[in-house]
Amino acid sequence: MGKCVCMIAEFRGGNFRRVSFEVASEGKRIADALGIGLRGVAVGSGVAGKAAELGQYGVERVLVRDDPALEHYLAEIYVPVVAEMIKKCDPAVVILPASVDGRDLGARLGARLDITLVQDVTQVVCEGGKVKARWPIFGGKCFAWSEWADGTLPIMSCRPNVMDCLPPDTSKRAEVELADIPIPESRSRVKAVDMDSSGKVELSEADIIVSGGRGMKEASNFALVEELAKAMGAAVGASRAAVDAGWRPHSDQVGQTGKVVTPALYVAVGISGAIQHLAGMGYSRYIVAINKDPEAPIFSRADYGIVEDLFKFVPAFTEEVKRLKS
Ligand code: FAD
Repeated sequence: MGKCVCMIAEFRGGNFRRVSFEVASEGKRIADALGIGLRGVAVGSGVAGKAAELGQYGVERVLVRDDPALEHYLAEIYVPVVAEMIKKCDPAVVILPASVDGRDLGARLGARLDITLVQDVTQVVCEGGKVKARWPIFGGKCFAWSEWADGTLPIMSCRPNVMDCLPPDTSKRAEVELADIPIPESRSRVKAVDMDSSGKVELSEADIIVSGGRGMKEASNFALVEELAKAMGAAVGASRAAVDAGWRPHSDQVGQTGKVVTPALYVAVGISGAIQHLAGMGYSRYIVAINKDPEAPIFSRADYGIVEDLFKFVPAFTEEVKRLKS
């Protein structure tokens, strides 16, 4: 068995994404159960000064590769660098975020290092020194448990917003080691020129999401969803019908072919609750559905159902939220 659990941190704009702390916390739980240490891998631009923060969540030592070329995730650069860093850690388990970038990175690392990846893990248990991971299959209709054959290295990506963060111990700092790993020259035809800098809460990390569907009727009516989201401190999502109609960007789409989200509260406005939509939000902690059709399938998953015309209900609800918050 390797010497440690190795967690891979993720950054956006030089700052940790929250899911990094969830992954570190889960890594710490696994490391304690296996009686080994927890190490981190941090790759990005302007991240060396931040890396020690992972110590608050139990990471003892972080291997850092900090270079302007690593500002945005680009597979052909990240994969060889991260693979080398993992080898240096000599891990027994590798764990990373199941974010958009993390899923891509994990799959490529699995192929490059010839190790088996389990994606989108929602629970990890350690029994008799072995790791087992639970992950959703068939669009979230059921779960599978996977374990790794003896002699293989478990690598898993963890679904954001599912693993509990440990309470941060601000007195602790991780030891930082700068890794001198060469960065391959990019031959890619793809170049990241800009990231969404609107300051929007990333959907897969949001605690509250308000999503609109075809029931919104037209793009301009999404102002109602946006205003409710603003009042609640929520991110805005959408069904595929709303995205296909051109009312929202694809980055807002929740569901089987969009983002999988697990917020504490999901408010579905004018969304019927098709199986492909439920696959993306069905494991939210609380679901509130606003729909004028009492037979809409979304109500079978909703904790609170409001059978009402959204154009009457949402403005009144928004005003009430604002009043309660003022
Ligand atoms: P509809 O099903 O048309 O529902 C609109 C709802 O609004 C209705 O229930 C209606 O009662 C209600 N409504 C209308 N007017 C009002 C009003 N005034 N007040 C209150 N309620 C009102 N879908 C996704 O969302 N995400 C995916 O990732 C996704 N992936 C897919 C992948 C595949 C391979 C396929 C085949 C489909 C996928 N879909 C996905 C599409 C999915 O099957 C549905 O078509 C889609 O989710 C429907 O979106 P909707 O609920 O907004 O629209």
